[in-house]
Amino acid sequence: MNKPQILIVEDDKAIANLIATTLETQDYNYHRVKTGSAAVLDALTYRPDVILLDLGLPDMDGVEIIRKIRSWSNMPIIVVSARSEDNDKVTALDAGADDYLTKPFSVDELLARLRVALRRVRSDSEKNNHESSIYENGNLKIDYAAGCVYRDGTEIHLTPLEYKLLCLLARNTGKVLTHNYILGKIWGSSDNYDTPSLRVFMATLRKKIETDPGHPEYIQTHVGVGYRMIRKNN
Ligand code: CA
Repeated sequence: MNKPQILIVEDDKAIANLIATTLETQDYNYHRVKTGSAAVLDALTYRPDVILLDLGLPDMDGVEIIRKIRSWSNMPIIVVSARSEDNDKVTALDAGADDYLTKPFSVDELLARLRVALRRVRSDSEKNNHESSIYENGNLKIDYAAGCVYRDGTEIHLTPLEYKLLCLLARNTGKVLTHNYILGKIWGSSDNYDTPSLRVFMATLRKKIETDPGHPEYIQTHVGVGYRMIRKNN
């Protein structure tokens, strides 16, 4: 595989340096830009595999950058935000960002998030090569055509809503989905369901797919944000 190309969008020199040094240790290629307009241009010309996007930029709102890029590309975007920008982080995820890092973050955390994003790039391109109707992740298998779910080869019975929820998470493996996004996709614009009811459905789904629902291996909780399906190493 070619060296991954990462676009660093960060106006804080010290943080940009830290990220750049970290990427060098992994032999990743990168470009650095300091403004939103340069980020949008570089996303088009440099065609990065992953964008690391600081939300607080001098010239443009980070969320606007995500919307612009999402209008033509599905490339993974990891938002980097300060703790004071917590609401912006959720808005950024709703606008189509994949994941987030909160400053200050550790080098290990940064690399772990990048690996998840790069895995998504790879599985997306595989999907395009041969459109699969089977989803496999660890001991979990979904047969989309038949509408069946298996754990360790044994079929498990899900309600239609649980199945819909699982498919939504599976089709977005590696990506953090916000409560709002999930509610919109599963229940449409209905006001009858909210984050607490989503939590209830998630708990029953986990009981069926997780070996230990108290320590979920597949569906990760992001407190105050949403959920993510983890790609397990098969
Ligand atoms: Ca900044």
